Amino acid sequence: MNKALIAVVIIGGAITLRGVHSSMEATSSVSDPPALYRSSVVGTDFDFITESDPDSFQRLEYKGFDEFEMPDKRGTEQALVQNAYIFNAYFTDGTMIGVALSKNFGSREAAEREVKRYIPRIGKLPPLYRQKIKHIVVHKGGADTTAFAEDKGNFFVIYSDNATKRIGTHDLEETFFHEGTHASIQEDYLEGAAWEKAKSLDGAYITDYAKTEDQEDFAESALFAYTIIYHPDRFPSVERDRIVKQIPNRIAFFKNLYTGREGPLK
Ligand SMILES: [Zn+2]
Repeated sequence: MNKALIAVVIIGGAITLRGVHSSMEATSSVSDPPALYRSSVVGTDFDFITESDPDSFQRLEYKGFDEFEMPDKRGTEQALVQNAYIFNAYFTDGTMIGVALSKNFGSREAAEREVKRYIPRIGKLPPLYRQKIKHIVVHKGGADTTAFAEDKGNFFVIYSDNATKRIGTHDLEETFFHEGTHASIQEDYLEGAAWEKAKSLDGAYITDYAKTEDQEDFAESALFAYTIIYHPDRFPSVERDRIVKQIPNRIAFFKNLYTGREGPLK
């Protein structure tokens, strides 16, 4: 292992975090043990959530070709508000999530084929995510453009060619979970005392990506915790033990959330 490189990564993380969340300084020092993995989605071979997992999708409704806010981080100089193919997806737990697809898909039929790739993945999210997420924006293309979320707006944005790549590597469910975490529970819990306490008790991070920003720590830890809670067999036992040892308090934090005992957590 290259110690100098690890030190730089950790210091870099601490600098980034200082601006975002001052209380992170206590847990982000050069004495932190190294993270276990690079990142959950592209830095591990774990299949946290699988394509064959059950989903709660019920029915799809076409709302029309209408104006919608379509944020795009590619800097295409397109107006924020554009015409889009808009659908409402309904789920068996009584939730509804909108999906707005770029006009560049060219027809309602093409947009409908596209949206059908995503709704089963939305239906695999924890129910409390669907209660908070308002909609998903889908752009055409963007093979190398990664998804991003707006936590306060309760939505996330994905790129169709990047999604195709992630389907190919069995990672799209994990991407939805990661962005879905940002877009749903994050705004209620990221600034809370329970999350702060869990982090400081753990004193270590699950991935290098988790060190870059408090919100990435939240989303990365959430996916590992969810899988430890619901599908522990998807980690080899040696890895499972390492994960539980690395972030036990974060796992307990998310277990409270996912199992519905969220009252006293904040
Ligand atoms: Zn993220």
